[in-house]
Amino acid sequence: MLGEGIIKGMVETARNCLGSYVSKDRLTTLQYPEERAPQFPNARQFPFLVYDGDDWEKGLRCVSCQICEKECPPKCIYIVKSKDKRVDYKGQQQFYPATFNIDISVCMSCQICVEVCPFESIKMDNEFELSNTDRFGGLLVHKNQLAKSNDHYRKVHPQDAAESDAALAAEVAKVQAKAKADAEAKAKAAAAKAAPAATPQPSPAAAK
Ligand code: SF4
Ligand code: SF4
Repeated sequence: MLGEGIIKGMVETARNCLGSYVSKDRLTTLQYPEERAPQFPNARQFPFLVYDGDDWEKGLRCVSCQICEKECPPKCIYIVKSKDKRVDYKGQQQFYPATFNIDISVCMSCQICVEVCPFESIKMDNEFELSNTDRFGGLLVHKNQLAKSNDHYRKVHPQDAAESDAALAAEVAKVQAKAKADAEAKAKAAAAKAAPAATPQPSPAAAK
C-alpha cells in the first residue's frame, strides 16, 4: 500500500510519545548534557596513553618504540624518543617518549596503533566531547593530555583491561623468574669459584 511505511512510522512515533508518559523505555531522547546514555564497551573515539600508579609521567607504559607512529595510516602520531632511560613497570631500563602528540583532527579512530603496540601502552578512549575553538592547535593532543590511568581504562573497557592486566602480570612474572634464576646461577658460580680446591690425599703406597 502506498504510504504504508509513513503510517507505520507515525504509529511508532505516537506510541513512543504517549508511552513516554508511563514508561522511561519509550523515551527516545535524553536531556543532554544533564543526562547521558551509557557508552557501549566497544565504543571508541581517539587513543590515550595508559599509565600505572599515581604519577602519570613516571607511570607511562610507552617505551617510545615508535611502532604505532610507523603504522598509523594517516601519520597523525608524532613521537620523540628520550635520550636517557628509566625503569619501566617490569623493572627494566627503557626509553620513554620525550614528546608524544596525536593530531585528532587527522586520526580516523582505526585502532591500528592499539593493535600494533607490544606494551599495552595505547588504548582507545570513548571520550567524545572534544570540540574546540582552535581548529589546529586545539586538536593536537599532547602527552600530558593523552595520559590516562589504568583505572580509567578499566572503567571504559573492563573486559579488555582485564586481559591487558593479565598479560602484563604474566610478563612481569616472567621477567622476575628470569632475574631470580640469573641471580641464583651467578651466586652458584661465585660460590664454586670461592671454594678452596680439594687437597689431594697421599696414596697408601706412597705413605710407606
Ligand atoms: S586510531 Fe588509527 S589513525 Fe588514530 S592514531 Fe591510531 S593508528 Fe593513527
Ligand atoms: S604507544 Fe606502544 S607502539 Fe607506540 S611508541 Fe609507545 S610502546 Fe611503542
